[in-house]
Amino acid sequence: MDCLFIPCICGTEPSTVALTPPIYNCPVCQGMQCVQLLRQDEHCCFFFLPFGKCSEGTPHYQCLRCHSTMPASAPMPYPPPGAYPPR
Ligand SMILES: [Zn+2]
Repeated sequence: MDCLFIPCICGTEPSTVALTPPIYNCPVCQGMQCVQLLRQDEHCCFFFLPFGKCSEGTPHYQCLRCHSTMPASAPMPYPPPGAYPPR
């Protein structure tokens, strides 16, 4: 007789929402346009089917290169989303 253990029947599942494309420069690894503004939301799920957002996380910056995170209040050496720097 098989005994299947289902670890998540009803619970929450984190999901990362990208609020901006990676347009910021990273102050840690000095990478160009590798930092984006992300938000970690919690979704309620039932049998792995997400059926709603239960909590909205606080936005934060994350570097795609060195994976360092910075609070959204940190000053980013780049213009706000939508504005691209002059070349
Ligand atoms: Zn970096």
